[in-house]
Amino acid sequence: MPNRQLYDRIEKLTKQTLLQLHELEQISLELQKVIEENHNLIMENHHLKDRLDAMNSSTHISNQVVEKKERSQSVINLENIYNQGFHICNLYYGKRRENDENCMFCTEILFGEH
Ligand SMILES: [Zn+2]
Repeated sequence: MPNRQLYDRIEKLTKQTLLQLHELEQISLELQKVIEENHNLIMENHHLKDRLDAMNSSTHISNQVVEKKERSQSVINLENIYNQGFHICNLYYGKRRENDENCMFCTEILFGEH
């Protein structure tokens, strides 16, 4: 191979190598960005999980309060009987409510303060 051709080949290879080096730098920068983004997302995710946990535990507490306020099963059973059209009050217990009309004694048992 003549010297001239060898020189041209070296020059061509040098250009290509420089181009590849430049490309490598670009990719390296992109990778750095992706790693940074990934880190930020991990932190954000962690932060959101913490907030979700905090919300869940406060929801859990308010659920417990609601459960305490919920009426007992026996009252619910009485309500079912009442809704089927029967008295549950002491006065008329077990008797049919005429035309499903409301009875204030029954409703007092169901909805009054206990
Ligand atoms: Zn009644």
